[in-house]
Amino acid sequence: MLESHKEATVAERISNVNSTSVGNWNWSRTPSGRAIDELTELTNLISSVSISDCPDSWKFTLDTSGTFTTSSMSSLINTLKYGVYTRNLSLPRNKYVPQKVFIFLWRVIQQKFPVRCELDKKGIDLHTILCALCDQHIETIEHALVNCHKVTSIWVKLLDWWNQNNTLFSNINEAIISDQGFSYNSIGSTLWQATKWITCYILWKHRNLKVFSSKEWNPAMIISEIQTQSFSWLSNRSRKKYQLNGINGSSTLLFTLQRL
Ligand SMILES: [Zn+2]
Repeated sequence: MLESHKEATVAERISNVNSTSVGNWNWSRTPSGRAIDELTELTNLISSVSISDCPDSWKFTLDTSGTFTTSSMSSLINTLKYGVYTRNLSLPRNKYVPQKVFIFLWRVIQQKFPVRCELDKKGIDLHTILCALCDQHIETIEHALVNCHKVTSIWVKLLDWWNQNNTLFSNINEAIISDQGFSYNSIGSTLWQATKWITCYILWKHRNLKVFSSKEWNPAMIISEIQTQSFSWLSNRSRKKYQLNGINGSSTLLFTLQRL
């Protein structure tokens, strides 16, 4: 701020005298107060710097290559937003779901998930910590994705769609990881797991639409979206192409699974 000539180059301000860098300052006024401390710190920092003949250039110090790329910035933001994660962290691999769904689930099992109960624990001031869907119970991760009666009605349809007549999940682990009681082969089991993950993802998406966009919670529409999206992601990621015949595509899906 005190530099008189804002376009000055580094070489104009720092020169090497007997292998030591010294500052050739040109201040608009004599530094005083806190600026003196800053100047001392700066002088210490540059004392071992040797100036080359190269022109000044920008360096992106957040990447080891020194070059700015959108992918390095993107991975930096992801790391800050989601934390450093690995695909093996107690969440099995499932090639049928996109990365965003995997990251979503990873945050769920890490308890890094912005349900009202967790936000409240972090000291964020909310007008309520009750569930955004039923307004009756505290909005925990388990409640929002598994136990709320607004979502269990959807899980019932999903279980029915997959011909899984076992009882509803009682906790998040059963909904996300366990495939206890599943009656298909291993590929079918992986597809069912992918469908459950996609269901959690879409349930949360619609919860957010209700909270932030005042969009009505419409179970029929949500089930339809889960079916369509599951078909799309599952078939795009497998060699076998599924077909969705009509919105209640249960017969097509089950037929395909039985042939796997
Ligand atoms: Zn609820």
